[in-house]
Amino acid sequence: MAKVIVKDLHKSYGDNEVLKGLNLEVQDNEVVCMIGPSGSGKSTFLRCLNDLEVPTKGQIIISGYDLSDKGTNINLVRENIGMVFQHFNLFPHLSVMQNITLAPVQLNKESKETADETAHALLKTVGLADKADAMPNSLSGGQQQRVAIARALAMKPNIMLFDEPTSALDPEMVGDVLDVMKKLAAGGMTMIVVTHEMGFAKEVADRVVFMADGQIQESGKPDDVFDHPKSPRLQDFLNKVI
Ligand code: ADP
Ligand code: MG
Repeated sequence: MAKVIVKDLHKSYGDNEVLKGLNLEVQDNEVVCMIGPSGSGKSTFLRCLNDLEVPTKGQIIISGYDLSDKGTNINLVRENIGMVFQHFNLFPHLSVMQNITLAPVQLNKESKETADETAHALLKTVGLADKADAMPNSLSGGQQQRVAIARALAMKPNIMLFDEPTSALDPEMVGDVLDVMKKLAAGGMTMIVVTHEMGFAKEVADRVVFMADGQIQESGKPDDVFDHPKSPRLQDFLNKVI
């Protein structure tokens, strides 16, 4: 069974129908990159997957659990989904270490000691072993984003959602964040990544999905999507961004 199954997903805000019947399956260990113009519903889609938004209609099944099923323990499903946002969203009054250990300790996933050990290991993974005691605002954007990734990983998720994780970064910071994401992908993490980094999508994605007007217009292997786009919509989009 696919790890993520989305069937006929609709989401409206008042009269504005943002998602208009999305269908997508993501397999275990698969990396799916989502591209598409601003306002096409990419963020809304990711928020639905994480139950930050409730769909108007349709079905989302994650690791076999139907999110709309009353019997599903949504909090447990969500603990297994890590999310990384464009603007990091670190807690500004907490140190790097405290940011990373807060959720696992509060949710009784780990003792303080184990959580500290895990956090140190994760900081090493993201190249910030020496920043455990730093405060977020003393770090660069790229460093803050890598802390945000470490914080998400501290919950030991088996799916990671990224919403334009490098869009708010100065160009020289982008590579370090993408390198961390590449490492994660190589380690077998199931990932859905909304991104404008076409180079990353080409290199890392198993599949690229093009979204426009609240629907998936086209999807396929990176080479097919980037080098042989079928729809004029996608051709036009690629001409603008590449
Ligand atoms: P994308 O991430 O592709 O740029 P979004 O999912 O952010 O697109 O937004 C798609 C549309 O949904 C936009 O028209 C936006 O204004 C609208 N929208 C998103 N979130 C909300 C909200 N919480 N309330 C009302 N409208 C929203
Ligand atoms: Mg968005």
